[in-house]
Amino acid sequence: MQQAVWRDRAFFLSSEAVTMQKLAIYPGTFDPVTYGHIDLIKRAVQLFDRVIVSVANAPQKEVLFSSAERAEMLKAATKGIPRLSIECFDGLLVNYAKRKKAKAMLRGLRMISDFEYEFQMALTNRRLKPEIETIYMMPNEAYCYLSSKLIKEAASLGANLKDFVPRFVERQLKLKLRKA
Ligand code: ADP
Repeated sequence: MQQAVWRDRAFFLSSEAVTMQKLAIYPGTFDPVTYGHIDLIKRAVQLFDRVIVSVANAPQKEVLFSSAERAEMLKAATKGIPRLSIECFDGLLVNYAKRKKAKAMLRGLRMISDFEYEFQMALTNRRLKPEIETIYMMPNEAYCYLSSKLIKEAASLGANLKDFVPRFVERQLKLKLRKA
């Protein structure tokens, strides 16, 4: 009798495991990917069954790289990280997250300066789709001040970016800025 109960429970758990796979999306511009983004991605795959890094095709801000270029750089920079995929998306973030059946949207919090905008965005998104949670994560303190914007400025002034982005991203940045 006891065995049957355990067997039932085991069955229940395994079928639940299939339907309860927790997917998180990590949306952003990633123009370009930095070690700050990569730090967050590595933390995220430890918390969720699957993570999709979602590259905004047409972000609100001006971008240097096309979405295909940004996604390609992300793919190369995260090669070998398990249960991770990279894709581009259009339109309203919460609608995309719902289509993907995501449980959560991940965002990074660096400084207090990120807080106000992120707080407004999280509460707006919650009002639009209450079933999708926004989760904030902090990077290693070494990357707390790092932003793609800063990296682009530093690259345009010829700085060495080895502590901030992978070498191939630095090369792409300098090539792109030369053409611009
Ligand atoms: P967005 O345009 O959506 O702000 P970004 O590509 O700048 O896109 O960033 C995507 C997400 O990653 C944001 O939540 C941002 O706060 C976070 N992020 C960016 N840089 C870092 C970093 N150095 N450390 C932690 N999180 C970061």
